[in-house]
Amino acid sequence: MNAQTAGLYVHVPFCFSKCDYCGFYSTVPGKGDIDSYLCRLAEESALVRAQLPTGIRTVFVGGGNPTTLGEEGIARLVSIIETWFANGNPVEITFETNPETLTLPIIRLLQNLPGIRLSIGVQRLEDSELAVLGRKARLEAVYRALDLACSNLTNVAADIILGVPGCPSVADSLANLLLRFDLKHISAYFLTVEADTPLQQRISAGNLPDPAETGPEELFWVRDMLVSRGFEHYEISNYARPGWRCQHNLGYWLARDYIGLGPSAVSGMADCRTSNVADFASWLRAAPPQIERLTRVDQRNEFLMLHLRLLLDGLSLTNLTAKFGPQPQDFYAELDGQLAVGNLQRHGDQIRLTDQGLAIADNVLASLFI
Ligand code: SF4
Repeated sequence: MNAQTAGLYVHVPFCFSKCDYCGFYSTVPGKGDIDSYLCRLAEESALVRAQLPTGIRTVFVGGGNPTTLGEEGIARLVSIIETWFANGNPVEITFETNPETLTLPIIRLLQNLPGIRLSIGVQRLEDSELAVLGRKARLEAVYRALDLACSNLTNVAADIILGVPGCPSVADSLANLLLRFDLKHISAYFLTVEADTPLQQRISAGNLPDPAETGPEELFWVRDMLVSRGFEHYEISNYARPGWRCQHNLGYWLARDYIGLGPSAVSGMADCRTSNVADFASWLRAAPPQIERLTRVDQRNEFLMLHLRLLLDGLSLTNLTAKFGPQPQDFYAELDGQLAVGNLQRHGDQIRLTDQGLAIADNVLASLFI
C-alpha cells in the first residue's frame, strides 16, 4: 500500500435523532458511549498506524454526526487524528456536521487544523421539506450554522438532497443561499429510499410519492444554476468553486487507497476491502473486520465506474489499459454504441459522460462492465 497518498476516514457513529431516510450506521449515544468510542478509536488508530507508519494525504471525519461528540470529544478526536501527522500534514481535513450541533468552541478547535474543511448537512431549504425528511434542524439552525462556519472558516461546504417527494426544485433557494454565504463546495445527491426506514413506510403506505419515479430535472436545474455562478460540476453529484474540490473524495474516485476507522468504516488497499463491523457494541469489543478480496475484474469495473463519475476529467483509455491490460472487443463495441447514441463523448484519449448519459449514468456505466 502507498500510504502517503492514502486518505483516512473516521466514522463517528452517533446522532441525537434519526432522520427518516437514514441508511447510514448511526445510533443515539447512551451514557458513557462517547468516552468508550474515543478510547476504542484511539486503540484502533494506534494499531492500524503501527502497521502503516507513513503519512496520510487527507482526513474525513464523517458519520453519523461528528459534532455530537461535543467540545471535549472533538478535542480528543483531533488528538487521535494528529497522531497520523508525524510524517507531514495532510492537504485537507474535512469534518461533517449537522447544523444544530455546531458551536463556536467546536469551530475554534478545528480552525487551526491544516486544510480544515467543514461540510454542513443542509439538505433542504424549506422547513416543510426538512420535515418531510425527518431532519431535526430547521432553517433557522441551518442559517446559524452557516453563519458561524462562514465567518470563521474559509472552506465551507454544504450537502443538499435532490428528488425529495412532492417538493419543488431547490435550485432557486440554493441560489439565494449562495448570495448570503460563501460556500466553496456543494454535494447534491438524489434521495434514495432505504429499506426499513420511516420514509420507506410512508411511501409504501401511499402517503408520499416514490422518489424513484422522479426524473433527473432537478439535477440539471441545480447544475445550471451552480455552473452559472462559477462552480465546476466535477463529479456526478459534486460541485466546487475552482480550486476547492474535495481532495478526500477525489481519492476515492481516483481509486487511491483509504484507511477507515470506527464502526462500519471500510478500508480499501489495492485488492483488499476491510469492513469494520456495523455495530457499536461489537466494534467496542474489537470484533474482527470482514475482509474481501476484489478480483481483477472487480477492480477494473470499479476503476472505470469511478473515473467516469468525474465529469470533467473522465476515463483515460490509456490508463485503463495500462492498469488492466488490453480490453475485450465487447467493451469497445459497447463503448462505440454509447458514443454513437450520445451518452458518452470522446476527447482524444478521454471518455466522458454527456448530459444525456448523466441522466441515466448508472445504466451507462454498468453497460461498460465486464
Ligand atoms: S444526520 Fe445523517 S447519519 Fe445522522 S440520522 Fe441523519 S442521515 Fe443518518
